[in-house]
Amino acid sequence: MNLSAQLHKTAEQFPQKSAYVFMDQETSYANLDASVSKFANGLKQLGVKKGDHIALIVGNSPHFVIGLYGALRVGATVIPINPIYTADEINYMLQDGDVKAVIAVDLLLPILKKIIGNTPFLEHVILCETTDTVENIPSYFHTFSQVVNRGEATYDFLELKEEDVAIILYTSGTTGKPKGAMLTHKNIYSNAQDVADYLSINGNDRVVAALPMFHVFCLTVSLNAPLMNGGTILIEPKFSPSSIFKLIQNRQATIFAGVPTMYNFLLQHDKGKKEHFHTVRLCISGGASMPVALLTNFERKFGVMVAEGYGLSEASPVTCFNPIDRERKAGSIGTSIMNVENKVVNELGEEVEVGQVGELIVKGPNVMKGYYKLSEDTEYALRDGWLYTGDLARMDKEGYFYIVDRKKDLIIVGGYNVYPREVEEVLYAHPDIVEVAVIGVPDPSLGECVKCYVVCNNQEITEEKLIAYCKEHLAKYKVPSEIEFLKELPKNTTGKILRRALKQQVSQER
Ligand code: AMP
Repeated sequence: MNLSAQLHKTAEQFPQKSAYVFMDQETSYANLDASVSKFANGLKQLGVKKGDHIALIVGNSPHFVIGLYGALRVGATVIPINPIYTADEINYMLQDGDVKAVIAVDLLLPILKKIIGNTPFLEHVILCETTDTVENIPSYFHTFSQVVNRGEATYDFLELKEEDVAIILYTSGTTGKPKGAMLTHKNIYSNAQDVADYLSINGNDRVVAALPMFHVFCLTVSLNAPLMNGGTILIEPKFSPSSIFKLIQNRQATIFAGVPTMYNFLLQHDKGKKEHFHTVRLCISGGASMPVALLTNFERKFGVMVAEGYGLSEASPVTCFNPIDRERKAGSIGTSIMNVENKVVNELGEEVEVGQVGELIVKGPNVMKGYYKLSEDTEYALRDGWLYTGDLARMDKEGYFYIVDRKKDLIIVGGYNVYPREVEEVLYAHPDIVEVAVIGVPDPSLGECVKCYVVCNNQEITEEKLIAYCKEHLAKYKVPSEIEFLKELPKNTTGKILRRALKQQVSQER
């Protein structure tokens, strides 16, 4: 169960097959595998060895793929980090993650020069491009191509154990500072293969990788799953609807994976046509709940099936998906993928009856080893072999799960539970609404009340009109008492809408 050794096997089987396409250049499996071996040998020459931690702070590019698979080939643990993080955020992860080497985009050079002194284990910084910025820099800086060119194209594979940590993913979790979820070789390998089997991702697939590669959704679904099976990755450095339409058409993509916000952008784009998705057999949504109205409108406009799945960093990430060979249920995250068990439980950890809401818990080969250096948080998240997700869900009698909401986003209005998602679903069904986020805000008599932020494409819509519309579709206590119109909603770099940022804004204002 070693992804990098698996890549080598695939390359032996299909040497001339295209492994990835980037900026119109196709690279074969044989060439990718040789670059990975050379990079891995180059890392070894720098003194990187099994068990060392390497941060990968790189956008969607071949450097990410070669850096990831090269580091895994040496047996190092990779820590993917968002390149647009601030110096403080990067510093925190490099220190907390005991990082020995960093592979980074050149733009980060000034930040890295500043923080290298604070990071006790950091010995090497590998910059992706050779530019003039790398002149007159300290000896521990190298360029990516220098490292690649140092190494041989053949590699002596070492024995790795299934439980060796392959990747540490920093995730915000439910509270406090980001925590490093330790994913073993078995975790990431099995999840990529189980997802590939469940969705039949195979050697004929050409999968768009437009989600950020440092995020586990892209890593498993758009990168590892196709590469394990001889498919081709279509690497998109930056998401935009027009570039996606072009890429799909030019490269005959068969699978597109995105978060709901991306689907919304594609749907709203005035040039989008059915022909754009002509070659696509499957659209995959995950990372956040897919509003039913968005899903059905997208399917109708582009004539392609959207299968929603669910996952979290701590589960490598996928636990559920809508099946492609049985019924696809809009609004549901589907059924458990193979080898993974999902269960809905009450506060005592007992399974609730079908249809009842409780916390979703997960068991399987994909569940993390624990949080790096955080035994208490690990004990809280992993109980009796089950991962507690912090998400509220229900299951129907056919075994399909429905995410009701994040446990911590639940709004309690005068003792009644309001799930923000339910209110958001109603507003998404309104023809003039583009995006919605619902949060709870303090209320002197009810404890909390519902506040809603909307992005609207019709100037004539007013707060009163929307409240009246909500009254037609929702029980009184769920109807928003405040609606604020925004030009756009705050999102993270994966495109997930950040209710947390809106809550912070409210608490600062009040
Ligand atoms: P991350 O660890 O950053 O991947 O975030 C995982 C969280 O994203 C989960 O715990 C859920 O709260 C949320 N999430 C992922 N997929 C879905 C989905 N299909 N529906 C609702 N929430 C989701």
